[in-house]
Amino acid sequence: MIKPYLPSTKVAKRLRTEQRLLINGQWLRASDGGLLDIYNPSTGAVMSQTAKATVEDVEQSVAAARASFEQSVWTGLTPAQRGKILWRVADLIEQHAEEIAELEMLDAGKFYADARHGEVPFAAECFRYYAGWCTKIEGRTKQLSTIPDQRFHAYTQREPVGVVALIVPWNGPLVQASWKLAPALAAGCSCIMKPAAQTPLSTVRLGELMIQAGVPAGVINILSGGGSEVGQRLTEHPAVDKVSFTGSTKVGKRIIDAAKGNLKKVSLELGGKSPVIIYPDADLTTAIPAAAHAIFANAGQVCVAGSRLYAHEAVYQQVTDGVAAIAKNMKVGAASDSSNEMGPLISKEQLNRVYQMIESGRKEGARIAAGGELIANQGGYFLQPTVLADTHHAMRVVKEEIFGPVLTTMPFSSEDDIAIYANDNSEYGLAASIWTRDIGLAHKTAADIKAGLVWVNCHGIPDMAIPFGGYKQSGWGRENGYEALLQYTELKSVIVKL
Ligand code: NAP
Ligand code: MG
Repeated sequence: MIKPYLPSTKVAKRLRTEQRLLINGQWLRASDGGLLDIYNPSTGAVMSQTAKATVEDVEQSVAAARASFEQSVWTGLTPAQRGKILWRVADLIEQHAEEIAELEMLDAGKFYADARHGEVPFAAECFRYYAGWCTKIEGRTKQLSTIPDQRFHAYTQREPVGVVALIVPWNGPLVQASWKLAPALAAGCSCIMKPAAQTPLSTVRLGELMIQAGVPAGVINILSGGGSEVGQRLTEHPAVDKVSFTGSTKVGKRIIDAAKGNLKKVSLELGGKSPVIIYPDADLTTAIPAAAHAIFANAGQVCVAGSRLYAHEAVYQQVTDGVAAIAKNMKVGAASDSSNEMGPLISKEQLNRVYQMIESGRKEGARIAAGGELIANQGGYFLQPTVLADTHHAMRVVKEEIFGPVLTTMPFSSEDDIAIYANDNSEYGLAASIWTRDIGLAHKTAADIKAGLVWVNCHGIPDMAIPFGGYKQSGWGRENGYEALLQYTELKSVIVKL
């Protein structure tokens, strides 16, 4: 049984009131008064409601963002002034860390300690990192050669791309919102953020703190609502200059189509099917628990989850048995109970989808080395941590993203095979980890892997300075680092005849 969780006074009060839309500095109901239920994935119960934005609300927020941009409401401040406001957002996130972590726990099913000591400080650091960049956006001077006997002064400058629509999924609501808002604002853009319909709570709180920190009205707008209405309209809208999207590859392709009308800029952080490659000389006492963590953290709902395990045949049995033993012993239950080791999936639909994938693996002949069953009777959306062993390349569970706590394992025999397996078994190319003590082999494999992020003897370590994103069908562009900032800018060249 799930122990009943009593929210803190602040959070209880927030849950009792309907979450609003942030449009032009005002917290508003949806234009037609529509509401969406917000579920707690640990209990399956409705715990609050949020305004469900309409196409009319999209019009209002795009108009507000456009006006703020054209009137230089944000870019009219000095870069140092903008940097100070972003730094203040970080301070406010830290001041309200407990409350935000509690919201993330209740809404997204994250453990409190993970949210409090992981996502919340990471979101704050994201705003600090980009606060520093505000004063460091620079162009270059150029030497011309076209006309030898005349003098020119030529330079490039970076300008904000304009009005940006930022669309994120439910698996890391606060961090994903911050990864987009902070660089977009540092570049000088005006923003419309659409959180996932399931998880608006921490984004709404972040919006309040951003207004409190001094981000001007119209520069930040927040629209909770459905992807097929609000997301789609934002993506089609002729007055939106760029869409930055994190989510599934399927919706990412829809976004490219919808963005065609005004050829808006598009960046996409999409799905993954990241391999964990264990060579026979690896330190297995570290690699085995790390491989389990790479797939079972956040119940596998992580874009860089290590969902395909390839272990050298000399250690394959030991590695598979080791990860399966960890899976079998994991305590699964409510995110509010810190004695649990794996929490819920986000929704009933996601639970069913992941379970269908396990069934498909079973039918195609995978051996269930651990888990494989739904955990009934708890109200929430729980599944056993699952290891599908002895899989092969043609299986759906090996090729497709599952986005749940399901690991496939497969042996390999040579280092020449492994890059082929890792690269060809899936259309994704987001991340990979390599486990070996042989430094040459580590670098050779890192070079051979077609993925945007490769970890050696670790998995899933993010950093604000490190570009994050995918090759192949894992996306276009990168989050984080200077590289993400540039994606919120246009480059202008100016040639002056002297
Ligand atoms: P999703 O269905 O693609 O949804 C993502 C966001 O897009 C949600 O806000 C959704 O709104 C919205 N959306 C849906 N249809 C839309 C449309 N036609 N136009 C515009 N927006 C639309 O993804 P998901 O299932 O929620 O999230 C899981 C996926 O995200 C996985 O594939 C995972 O790998 C990927 N992901 C990638 C990264 C990365 O950085 N690479 C990080 C995290 C997750 P609703 O909430 O209303 O559906
Ligand atoms: Mg929820």
